[in-house]
Amino acid sequence: MTIHTHILGFPRIGSDRELKFALERHWRGEATEASLEETGKQLRARHWALQRDAGLAYVTVGDFAFYDQVANHIQLLGCEPARFAFDEKSSQLSRYFQMARGADSHADHAACCDGHADTAPDVSHYALEMTKWFDTNYHYLVPEFSPLTQFALASSRLFEEVAEAQALGHQVKAALIGPLTFLWLGKEKTPGFNRLALLDQLLPVYSALLDRLKQQGVDWVQIDEPILGLDLPTAWRSAFDSAYWQLNQVGVNILLATYFSPLEENLSLACRLPVAGLHVDGIRAPHELINVTDWLPAHKVLSIGIVDGRNIWRTDLDQAISVLQPLFDKRGGKRGGELWLAPSCSLLHTPFSLAQETSLDPEIKSWLAFATEKLAELALLKDALTGNSDGTALAVSRLAIASRRASARVHRPQVEQRLQALSPTADRRDAGFSLRQTLQRTRFQLPHFPTTTIGSFPQTASIRAARASFRRGELSASDYENSMRAEIAHAVGRQEALGLDVLVHGEAERNDMVEYFGEQLDGFLFTRYGWVQSYGSRCVKPPVIYGDVQRPTAMTVDWTVYAQSLTDKPMKGMLTGPITILQWSFVRDDQPRARTALQIALAIRDEVQDLEAAGIGIIQIDEPALREGLPLRRSQWDGYLDWATRAFRISACVVGDSTQIHTHMCYAEFNDILPQIAAMDADVITIETSRSDMELLTGFGQFDYPNDIGPGVYDIHSPRIPSASEMLRLLQKASAVIPPANLWVNPDCGLKTRGWKETEAALANMVQAARQMRGASAAA
Ligand code: GLN
Ligand code: ZN
Repeated sequence: MTIHTHILGFPRIGSDRELKFALERHWRGEATEASLEETGKQLRARHWALQRDAGLAYVTVGDFAFYDQVANHIQLLGCEPARFAFDEKSSQLSRYFQMARGADSHADHAACCDGHADTAPDVSHYALEMTKWFDTNYHYLVPEFSPLTQFALASSRLFEEVAEAQALGHQVKAALIGPLTFLWLGKEKTPGFNRLALLDQLLPVYSALLDRLKQQGVDWVQIDEPILGLDLPTAWRSAFDSAYWQLNQVGVNILLATYFSPLEENLSLACRLPVAGLHVDGIRAPHELINVTDWLPAHKVLSIGIVDGRNIWRTDLDQAISVLQPLFDKRGGKRGGELWLAPSCSLLHTPFSLAQETSLDPEIKSWLAFATEKLAELALLKDALTGNSDGTALAVSRLAIASRRASARVHRPQVEQRLQALSPTADRRDAGFSLRQTLQRTRFQLPHFPTTTIGSFPQTASIRAARASFRRGELSASDYENSMRAEIAHAVGRQEALGLDVLVHGEAERNDMVEYFGEQLDGFLFTRYGWVQSYGSRCVKPPVIYGDVQRPTAMTVDWTVYAQSLTDKPMKGMLTGPITILQWSFVRDDQPRARTALQIALAIRDEVQDLEAAGIGIIQIDEPALREGLPLRRSQWDGYLDWATRAFRISACVVGDSTQIHTHMCYAEFNDILPQIAAMDADVITIETSRSDMELLTGFGQFDYPNDIGPGVYDIHSPRIPSASEMLRLLQKASAVIPPANLWVNPDCGLKTRGWKETEAALANMVQAARQMRGASAAA
């Protein structure tokens, strides 16, 4: 019985984000295509060398991309939408960047909220749409399909990369996105057309592709079909058999790779497909490993994703061995069987290496493993299983696992006690919404169609400069504070002048809506180089939640109280909700996510309570990431939504009835989770609706959403200034489905990425539109 190690993919951005900087230089016109290609080549060579040095049986080729691996496939398979073929003279790479970024724009897909790339980007009309890769924070470019779509092998990039690796002396495993997953991830551009109909045309091109790899001497091709972990329509499921039968004719070894989700009803399908091997995600679906081991025919390779490819924790090797040993014994009994060990999914979703984290606390650092360290873990596991381990490395690892398990920095009994002591009504407001609405109306005396904003005002160059020099120690704490106060005063002054009804302080002091809170909470850790690619050249550096979370001291009260002191209008306190903080962090894996969410909720609850005690009457708790936390399998939605909405309510429901709780979500589709959104019981919810022309609201109307709603009346992703009449039209449309008495008027999202000039002009028009609505309803 042979054991091999391999990976499904490696982060391509580089240890120092070399790819990011090379891309941006190229986009600015400061570096040629040739020099960008050279950077790519060097990065690939370096990453393959790491894989070889870690003893992997193969290096993985095909995981590299200058923007996105799905975009690479669009070019490889020759299905670029026609609008990108307009210029015969433009190079393949420049067409590639046009697909990614739009032909006419120098701006990259602009991330709005807090650098999280959490939301739909600013898509110039030429660029392909971007969307999240399954339940990760990585975004791919969405292929477009129509009855006219044709496929052909149209790029030699992959073959060149294979040759490059071979020239360096590597054993190559090529990696591809499978034909069904590729079609699934795309979007029909013609109404009524079903993209699955393209499969018959697509398969011969995949066969040609496999054949070409075979000619190059590639033994193994990993074909990713993560959609096997989704609830697939029958037609899609049944397409797998014949598709893989056809691909298998080429005679190259196919390793079918699945990940992110249990296979469930697709388990036996995956095991019987005519391929040479199957990879399964042993982290997300450990309970399926025994069945896979039993059902997968003995002559096939079983690849087990045993190292977490989605998180940054050191693998508990003893625990992994206890999972692997019975599988090894079972398969070892069968002649010729091969077992491969791998991370659960591509390492794209983890940072590069811990080596540079020189200022991390050494104890906590010993609990972590980034992509490079995960390669070493694979080798250790293999050695342990084959009885070749010298024991030292295992002992080091054991020590780290034991220290994490016992550490007083992880386990804070007082947090546990608070959780235990939570009363069953801690997630409920005292009064129902209608009584609260009356009390709040009396208290705040707001006009009909009250106007407000989502929280942030422009993060100007001077704000960023002040923060940077404060961080570098060049600006004293009090000077920094003064300059932030000046920014707050400016924002408040502008809002008063504009005549907005509920004001915000503008979030000048916040670099990022999660980081700002994480930095002030116990249990969070920030790395220096823990970058993960989000899309294109854009990376995020998620905080690490390593221990029990608690709030040592108030986080936003001083700024908010200061802002309130400048105005007689109500000042809305601004907090990030527990689910969004959870969702945008690397979360500890030693307790259920639900528990960590509750701990964060308690910390936010403390802040809500302090804000209320300081006289702040309106508090917004943002949850833009609530929807993206939904599990890939529908059957798990209810479980998630239960604890997620409870966590929100725990954070909010500590206030008296006359205190008004807002929440905000962007870019969510709500219709399938409306009951749970309603169950959050926020007094006011603001959502993104302008880009859908208020269509999103229909669901709220049909559902009879009980509380107040602020449907965004203008798109903050564009510098365009909408006219008052445009916004008036949207408000009229909204009042047709939502009781006008429950309507608020606000933009789609925060204004941090905008400039002041366009912000003021747009808000002035917005206030005017609200006044016209009031005039019309008074006249009626
Ligand atoms: N309060 C935040 C802001 O205005 C909300 C951002 C978001 O929705 N992602 O920037
Ligand atoms: Zn938003």
